[in-house]
Amino acid sequence: MLTLLQILRCTPSGTIQLSHKYRTDALSVSGDHDDRHYKAVVVGGDGTHKASASFHGPVDTGTAIVVACSCRSFAYNYAYALSARGSASVTGADYPIRKNPKLVPGMCGHLVFLTRAAIMATKEARRG
Ligand SMILES: [Zn+2]
Repeated sequence: MLTLLQILRCTPSGTIQLSHKYRTDALSVSGDHDDRHYKAVVVGGDGTHKASASFHGPVDTGTAIVVACSCRSFAYNYAYALSARGSASVTGADYPIRKNPKLVPGMCGHLVFLTRAAIMATKEARRG
């Protein structure tokens, strides 16, 4: 499994910058403090997508993570590359022979948005 930071470091900077334009009003959380699952419907210029992220430890960038998103960017670029490393909760992803033949890990903007929102929500909760 990869940590969130390992995935973010390989994610194109344009994707990270554009993720600020997304929004959600339904961030749901389940799981305990050692294994937290976040789900959200993320809305942006490219439509509405279901994104999910499971932190296997504290909700922070240094924690191993498993993600999925319903968008094409995730399916075509990252689903296989992350699956091969145990960091995508999808099965049957096609090898991205054209989009990502070197299997570089990364995330779509929806997942960048979701993981950032999860970390911010956790910090807010800690502050009380
Ligand atoms: Zn996505």
